[in-house]
Amino acid sequence: MTASPPEFRELARRVGLAPDPTARGPVPLNRYYEACNAMHVALPDLTTGSAAAYLVQFGYVSGPDNVEGLWAGTDALAGLLFRAGDVAVAFVNASDILARRRFTAAHELGHAVLHREVMGSVLEDATIEETDGPLAAMEAEANRFAAELLMPEVILRARADELRAAHGCCPRVVLGYRLASELLVSREAIGYRLKNLGVGDGE
Ligand SMILES: [Zn+2]
Repeated sequence: MTASPPEFRELARRVGLAPDPTARGPVPLNRYYEACNAMHVALPDLTTGSAAAYLVQFGYVSGPDNVEGLWAGTDALAGLLFRAGDVAVAFVNASDILARRRFTAAHELGHAVLHREVMGSVLEDATIEETDGPLAAMEAEANRFAAELLMPEVILRARADELRAAHGCCPRVVLGYRLASELLVSREAIGYRLKNLGVGDGE
C-alpha cells in the first residue's frame, strides 16, 4: 500500500472533502478543481491546436504567438494542461467515455498541483495509462493523485465490508464492477486500485 502524496492530503484538507463512506456516488471532482482555481474543458478531438484556439478565444493568452509551438499541433491527445500564474485550464478529449474523461481531468489536476514548478505553461498527455506499469515519474505521480482523488481508500474498504457482510465473500471482480458504476471510473482503474490496496478477494 502506498501512502497518499502529502500534496493530495493538503488539498483534500483545504477542500474540506473527507471521503464519506455513508454517501453514495462519484467524488465531486469539480470541487477539487474549484479549490485549485482550475477549470476543465472537454473538446472534441482534442489536439494542441484546438486547445490553443480555445485559450486564445477565451482570452487566456493574448494571441497565437503566446502559444507558439502548440498552434499547429494536430496530434490527438488524451489531455493537456495549461498554466498561467495561478490559473490552470485542463483539457480532456470529449470523444472519450465519461470514466476516461474523469480520470484524465483528475490526472491533469494532479499535474497542476504537483508539478507547477517544473511543468512550464503547457503539459501534453498524448495518452494516459491507467496502469501501475513503469511510467515516467511525473506521469506515475499524476496517476496516483487521480487514483487517490477518484477512488478513496476509505470508500473502497467500506464497500468491501458491505459486500462481505451481505454475501459472506468479497470477490474483487464483483467489488470492482460495483465501484466502477458508483464512482464513474473504468473497470481497469478500479481493478488496479483494489489490487494495490489489497482490497477484495482474488487475483
Ligand atoms: Zn500526464
